[in-house]
Amino acid sequence: MAEFSMELNEDQLQLQKWVHDFSENVIRPAASEWDEKEETPWPIIQEAAKVGIYSFDFVAQAFFDPTGILLPIVNEELAWGDAGITLSLLGTTLGLAGIAANGTPQQMLEWGPQCFGTPDKVQLAAFAVSEPDAGSDVSNLRTRAVYDEAKDEWVLNGTKTWITNGGIADIHVVVASVEPELKSRGQASFIVPPNTKGLSQGQKFKKMGIRASHTAEVVLDDVRVPGSCLLGGKDKLDEKIARAKEGKRSSSQAAMRTFESSRPSVGAQAVGIARAAYEYALDYAKERTAFGRKIIENQGIAFKLADMKTRVDASRLLVWRAAWMGASGKTFEAGEGSMSKLYAGETAVYVTEEAIQIMGGYGYIREHPVERWHRDSKIYTIFEGTSEIQRLIIARAISGIHIP
Ligand SMILES: Cc1cc2nc3c(=O)[nH]c(=O)nc-3n(C[C@H](O)[C@H](O)[C@H](O)COP(=O)(O)OP(=O)(O)OC[C@H]3O[C@@H](n4cnc5c(N)ncnc54)[C@H](O)[C@@H]3O)c2cc1C
Repeated sequence: MAEFSMELNEDQLQLQKWVHDFSENVIRPAASEWDEKEETPWPIIQEAAKVGIYSFDFVAQAFFDPTGILLPIVNEELAWGDAGITLSLLGTTLGLAGIAANGTPQQMLEWGPQCFGTPDKVQLAAFAVSEPDAGSDVSNLRTRAVYDEAKDEWVLNGTKTWITNGGIADIHVVVASVEPELKSRGQASFIVPPNTKGLSQGQKFKKMGIRASHTAEVVLDDVRVPGSCLLGGKDKLDEKIARAKEGKRSSSQAAMRTFESSRPSVGAQAVGIARAAYEYALDYAKERTAFGRKIIENQGIAFKLADMKTRVDASRLLVWRAAWMGASGKTFEAGEGSMSKLYAGETAVYVTEEAIQIMGGYGYIREHPVERWHRDSKIYTIFEGTSEIQRLIIARAISGIHIP
């Protein structure tokens, strides 16, 4: 009989505790400061690199964990400390996921470690898909990649927007259109190596939340990269384009595949924020007195907390299921990856808002972290596919109908 268990094993529990301790002792105490500064928290990234959390080896171990559970555990524990700092630590993994999804094993070995650098010289990566006129609709990219056969180089031109670590990253993974009329099927992903001429940071955005994470435009002005920087190689791209021109079905789309594989991890970050807010509100409700009794003794407050806890746990179960399905090669028949991100993202917004409500005026001021958690939570219904796009993916998967 095959065994079934929902309990983490000793190794998983140990890893969870190790990351949690870092989050509790290093990330959470610094969260408010970096939210106010609205800057990348380099000292924290360096500290995470020193202990081994910000490293290619650690992330690769979590990425290729056959159970799939390590990545959500790491994401949840870090985001429990602070989501903005977590994105500064894990934004690099978006670039890495772009390489893993589209690159050859050799490209992964060459560029993967460079995404992180070393504890003495930490590096960052970015994954640049979105454009001013192509956010949800990634088939509409305007950034062009043109092949210069004489030099075996690709020339990239265009503007990317909302890019996490954009312009400050050492490695930019850029998705561009090679054959615009083929839409997504005419796109390819490219590595832009450190210090490449023509790549610059445009506007840096001031945001509502996750303010310790850098978000900016990336301008590509005649950026030339060697032919070897085309992820997956030229033969594979030529084959894909030829198939698309013949009208044959493609097995994947560069950008969508990367997003699909990273959705449960993003959902896990939302679980981390929601859990933090739930725990904080629970403690507060047991302490705070009004009308001569603890506020938790009112059903109106106690039931809120019951609903919050239920939704946090349900979100985690969806995240873990999707992560396990991804790692064990199961087909996402009902958009289970999207379900996990959709539900966890909306839960984080709901739970953090309820936490403010439970704390009354104290929930609304910056002396307590719940107002920040609420600001941070909102991005989880927007990036990596908005809630509407997740519903679209699920609706298409369950109906078999291409709902537009
Ligand atoms: C802080 C931050 C960090 C980000 N990091 C990155 C990054 O690192 N790399 C990257 O490439 N991108 C990144 N993004 C971009 C992000 O993925 C996009 O903002 C997101 O996909 C939505 O695109 P959009 O903003 O253009 O909205 P739009 O696509 O213009 O959507 C606007 C509204 O219309 C709805 N909508 C659109 N189409 C449909 C439809 N068919 N059915 C129903 N509703 C629809 C949307 O759900 C949304 O509510 C980031 C964004 C932010 C804000």
